[in-house]
Amino acid sequence: MIPARPSSDFMREKVLEIHQRLAHAYGDIPARSGSDPLCELVHTILSQNTNDRNRDLAFARLRSRFPTWEAVRDAPAEEVIQTIRPAGLAPSKGPRIQKILRRLTEERGELSLEFLRELPLTEARAWLTGLNGVGPKTAAIVLLFSLGRPAFPVDTHIHRVTRRLGLIPPQTSREKAHALLEKIVPPELYYPFHIEIIEHGRRVCAARQPRCEHCILRDLCNHYQGAKTYGTQNT
Ligand code: SF4
Repeated sequence: MIPARPSSDFMREKVLEIHQRLAHAYGDIPARSGSDPLCELVHTILSQNTNDRNRDLAFARLRSRFPTWEAVRDAPAEEVIQTIRPAGLAPSKGPRIQKILRRLTEERGELSLEFLRELPLTEARAWLTGLNGVGPKTAAIVLLFSLGRPAFPVDTHIHRVTRRLGLIPPQTSREKAHALLEKIVPPELYYPFHIEIIEHGRRVCAARQPRCEHCILRDLCNHYQGAKTYGTQNT
């Protein structure tokens, strides 16, 4: 009988099964060596509403035009905006980045986010999401990728694929998905599961036309099975 609301144990087992299949399909995900958290934060802000190529170009231009973060902080706003223009939304992103650098200087006396390593996770997350333009995804990327803290970033691929699979309810917002997925994905799998689901979203579970006939998760997928409740699994 299909449970009206699946238990946490059921969902964790489903996550493990999905992880095992995707790890087998896409190979082991190499551990990522932690990037500098301030670089990661700026990089992620630049990535908002653009593609990887434009983000990387804007970041490279920023680092090449200004030798230090102090130089970015103290530069005329228009100069920063022109430098990061390839990333799009430069008139918003430039001042945001400079504001963060000024806040760090005032609060910490140095341009570094290393202090977040020592804070309790909820405080570190709250500090990051308290910055203008930093939402749960950007905060989780900095926490997980740079600082190795247990946070699960939800991008557009993860939001789409996990809803289709029934790991979260279909109407869940991307913001709320962070907390729900952190409850059912084991923390030691946050990084590989994040990468695997993105890979699956890009290769198979595309936004417009998911290639279900080629998908190794069909028997676990609510979207494919047409199930009416989330987390269910036809046998
Ligand atoms: S069965 Fe289809 S909808 Fe479900 S995860 Fe696979 S590709 Fe996506």
